[in-house]
Amino acid sequence: ALHQLPDVSLPRYVRVNTLKLDVDSALLELQEKYSVEKDDLLPDLLKLPPGTDLHDHPLVNNGSIFMQGKASSMVAPALNPEPGWEVIDACAAPGNKTVHLAALMKRKGRITACELNKQRIKRLKETIKLSGASNIHVLNEDFLNIDPKAPSYSKVKAVLLDPSCSGSGTAASRLDHLLPSKAAGQDTDIERLNKLAAFQRKALQHALNFPAVEKIVYSTCSINQIENEDVINSVLPIAESHGFELVNPFPEWHCRGLPVFKGSENLIRTHPATDGEGFFIALFAKKKNEQRKKK
Ligand code: SAM
Repeated sequence: ALHQLPDVSLPRYVRVNTLKLDVDSALLELQEKYSVEKDDLLPDLLKLPPGTDLHDHPLVNNGSIFMQGKASSMVAPALNPEPGWEVIDACAAPGNKTVHLAALMKRKGRITACELNKQRIKRLKETIKLSGASNIHVLNEDFLNIDPKAPSYSKVKAVLLDPSCSGSGTAASRLDHLLPSKAAGQDTDIERLNKLAAFQRKALQHALNFPAVEKIVYSTCSINQIENEDVINSVLPIAESHGFELVNPFPEWHCRGLPVFKGSENLIRTHPATDGEGFFIALFAKKKNEQRKKK
């Protein structure tokens, strides 16, 4: 019952890589063949009819547009890093959100793309190359082993944390539900979820330790409360003690987090059935009046 088939009537989205092409030019070029319109939430996202297949489109092949769902394209804009900032993408491969950050930062500043898995580093580097970004530094490292107090990270202002998760929000679109082990419900195995959540909590706490960090975005492609609201709820007191609060990156969005703690109305959820993917987004931001309040 957990998995729903992707609704074939849902639109397809592509993200325009504004490092290579502006949105209006992409729109014009795609309009030659498709009925395409701008998304109403994200300025660099284009909406195409259900079932549109752009796999081999020249704009995809040359990195001008990325085939990226709407929910996944909401994460970097939720963080909304300023051009010139230093940013860490903590769990970066294959790099879709890394290069989205780079586009939002307009080639200014610096992004550290951290990825533990050596095999996935290759994909990450390919994505970065295709994007045309030149200010991304790839680090094959465990994010938990990065020393937040090291001088090289003293100016990190923002962290994007998109950790390994159960993937339960996108399982249907990957047709995982057809695999016997998944059909047997093993992907809801509580032990596995607890393990994932333990890492997710640790990584989120680690992100809070960077001395100059002002914003942290946490996202999963899971629909499980244990990896989403529960992670945020358990780290929230620590975040608050660091002067952070939960803020709502998309007040106009129709779906909030599960109402399981005070502040969950700031959380963003997307649903597989209505939005194509089940994503979760939480944004922590340093309180502006923190200094004043302390006095
Ligand atoms: N943000 C990516 C994107 O949008 O393309 C997807 C990230 S994927 C959900 C999570 C990634 O985190 C995986 O590539 C995994 O290998 C990596 N990872 C898992 N544990 C890690 C750790 N301790 N440190 C760094 N990366 C880790």
